[in-house]
Amino acid sequence: DRALVWFRRDLRLDDHAALHRALRHARQVWCVFVFDTTILDSLPRADRRVEFIWHSVEELDRLLRERGGGLLVRHGDPRSEIPALARALHVQAVHVNRDYEPAAVARDAKVRGALAEAGISFLSWKDQVVFEHEEVMTAGGTPFSVFTPYKNAWLKKLDPFYLKAYPVERHAHALVAPPAALERGLPRLSDLDFLPTDMATRLHPGASGGAHLLLDFLERIDHYEDTRNFPAVKGPSYLSVHLRFGTVSIRQLARLAHERMVGGSRGAEVWLSELIWRDFYFQILHHHPRVVGHCFKPDYDAVKWDHGHHADALFAAWCEGRTGYPLVDAAMRQLNQTGYMHNRLRMVAASFLTKHLGIDWRRGEAYFALHLNDFDLAANNGGWQWAASTGCDAQPYFRIFNPMTQSRKFDPAGRFIRRYVPEIAGLNDDEIHAPWEAKPMERLAAGVELGKTYPAPVVVHEEARAKTLERFDALKKAR
Ligand code: FAD
Repeated sequence: DRALVWFRRDLRLDDHAALHRALRHARQVWCVFVFDTTILDSLPRADRRVEFIWHSVEELDRLLRERGGGLLVRHGDPRSEIPALARALHVQAVHVNRDYEPAAVARDAKVRGALAEAGISFLSWKDQVVFEHEEVMTAGGTPFSVFTPYKNAWLKKLDPFYLKAYPVERHAHALVAPPAALERGLPRLSDLDFLPTDMATRLHPGASGGAHLLLDFLERIDHYEDTRNFPAVKGPSYLSVHLRFGTVSIRQLARLAHERMVGGSRGAEVWLSELIWRDFYFQILHHHPRVVGHCFKPDYDAVKWDHGHHADALFAAWCEGRTGYPLVDAAMRQLNQTGYMHNRLRMVAASFLTKHLGIDWRRGEAYFALHLNDFDLAANNGGWQWAASTGCDAQPYFRIFNPMTQSRKFDPAGRFIRRYVPEIAGLNDDEIHAPWEAKPMERLAAGVELGKTYPAPVVVHEEARAKTLERFDALKKAR
């Protein structure tokens, strides 16, 4: 009759599967969040995501207290903290929302085992995705590895039941305040050994922040298809960080998108399709955990990426946004300065690293993982393997983005480039995409000195392209 809800990447009160289940089944429900040292220890000491979590946890605690409950907060290893707390509270069950990342699955198995020894059950619920595990499979009963048929099957299976909210409010009377003896209070950011960042000027954390962005996006959703590819335009929803930490409910988003799609909104239809990509990569990770560290297509594990000093220097130039390719540099600087990168630019930057610089996608994946506010193992790995052509349903290896063409098409007036690469802002709208092609006089007039005020391109497009085709063709020959 007593239960504990362990919050992880689901930092909201509304439409919460685990909390709903616990409140319905138990007469007394406590809530806990653990600042997990096994994760925090590997992060830089100033990290917007930790601050985002901190503020979201603070808001969640306040909302729970307003309803008679509150959040017990721990700082340590959940594999010991959760069983210890569950025993101290004499609960019969610990409820969680399922997490699909291999490290989280292993952690949960440990917690489940420790709880079982104390006769406490560990109940996990689907909350993070619309469909999980084996819910959407091919007619032959195997997992999908191609997106379009997956999406069609996903849409076919969808009915209002799957998008129904898990109400919390009407069962909230079962919430119990943390017992004084077990309460430790919310540690300060400095107690967690983290420094403040510029998070507050960039992100609105918590469920309130997510709701605010959603309202704003719903005004624009009908235009999503026309605007989503242009990084200088406010086209996408910017909800990814909220999906990452569960400060919005995926069911609510999918429900709104689906309703509008049925109402004839093409923008909503395309946006729903993006949410389906998210489910798609979660199920890929579940069925093929080897993608962590390996190519989805095993043959591609044999690709010989460049290594050594020269590759390291190119990698550093890519990370720091000084490749000499303005759109790529603008993309990387957006990531470094804000923790966000527009989807079109993620594709361009990832393609450039793997297909122009010949560098292993895993190095780029790790860099994104460290810097993206919305870093999500499933989507990040999926995106990188797509761009590197090593993934399921990936870009074929011979299709190599031309960074100048991408730039002219998706940032035609160079507005995005000028924002992040101001040192070439004086070039005209045509030259700005490829400064080395501008006449020396024009460059001089714009105050651009290649190699001095802005880098000369670190590789030549045509040469890089030829090298990549060779790199991948070598695989075919080896077979
Ligand atoms: P919107 O355009 O408003 O899309 C709405 C939501 O749909 C997103 O918030 C996201 O949850 C989901 N979505 C959109 N595109 C994709 C996609 N291709 N795959 C999976 N889900 C998608 N997304 C992440 O959430 N975390 C990552 O770590 C991540 N890494 C990426 C790395 C690469 C190399 C690439 C090419 C893509 C990556 N993406 C990642 C997918 C996509 O770029 C982001 O989800 C998107 O840019 C987030 O901005 P938004 O919320 O404004 O997107």
